[in-house]
Amino acid sequence: MLALDIQKIQKKYANGTEALQGVTLQIEEGDFFGLLGSNGAGKTTLIGIICGLVTPTAGSGKVFNFNIDTERDLAKQQIGIVPQEFNFNIFEKVWDIIITQAGYYGLTVKEATPHAEHILKKLDLWDKRDQPSRALSGGMKRRLLIARALVHTPRLLILDEPTAGVDVELRKGMWEYLTELNKNGTTIIMTTHYLEEIERLCRNLAIINKGEIVKSGLVSELLQGMDTKTYILTLDSGNEEITVRKDQDLSQVLGEFAKKGKKILDIRLNENRLEQLFLQTIRT
Ligand code: ADP
Repeated sequence: MLALDIQKIQKKYANGTEALQGVTLQIEEGDFFGLLGSNGAGKTTLIGIICGLVTPTAGSGKVFNFNIDTERDLAKQQIGIVPQEFNFNIFEKVWDIIITQAGYYGLTVKEATPHAEHILKKLDLWDKRDQPSRALSGGMKRRLLIARALVHTPRLLILDEPTAGVDVELRKGMWEYLTELNKNGTTIIMTTHYLEEIERLCRNLAIINKGEIVKSGLVSELLQGMDTKTYILTLDSGNEEITVRKDQDLSQVLGEFAKKGKKILDIRLNENRLEQLFLQTIRT
């Protein structure tokens, strides 16, 4: 079954900005999907449309077969959303934030309590349950956003830059938790600026640029299909980056430097292949 099926979605804002220009995207149930794009590419608009918060100008969409327009409430019920911004009431206690959210989905306190306890323990927030959200650190607030999104056990979890501003240690913990959730059957869509995160977590990926999907597919295949490698050279005059195509001979390229009298002190392969793929895609 498809977790998400959107067809030819367009969004033109009232000020004339064409944020999406006919986006078609299908995501299988169980996938861990990365949505990559620079600022202003249209990621947040697309997520807003999937969640029923933004009305598209044209096109249609389904979440687990529920139409995002004509069956909006049912479609929304399938989704947990982790927004970029901390949008809690800062005086409300952690426990109340979770239980109130459950109420929005029609769960009674009694029904919600066992699951809420489980999630808060999993996300290391159980000890903080009686604290107001303003007393939490940034990393804790981020985890609270995730806990809140999961309280109604959504089949599709959408995270908009979940690790922005989260330190390395916490980021790893969050990666582990998201991987576990996905293994247990939750479909995940994530936008991120950290390409490393996509390479580590995601099975499939779409690159969005200026409101259009410019590339999509399996992360492993997209990386394999790359026909260039980038090396970082340390010269006596400073660092230089070179891009070498598959059909080019590296030693010949390096020979050109010697001919120009430039001395190579060190050579390193740029390991961040996804970043190269991204840059190649949006430049062409
Ligand atoms: P991203 O999340 O990839 O940074 P957005 O979806 O936020 O991209 O934005 C896509 C484009 O739509 C940008 O040019 C942005 O300025 C514009 N945009 C986003 N929201 C609005 C809005 N409410 N009104 C007008 N233009 C908007």
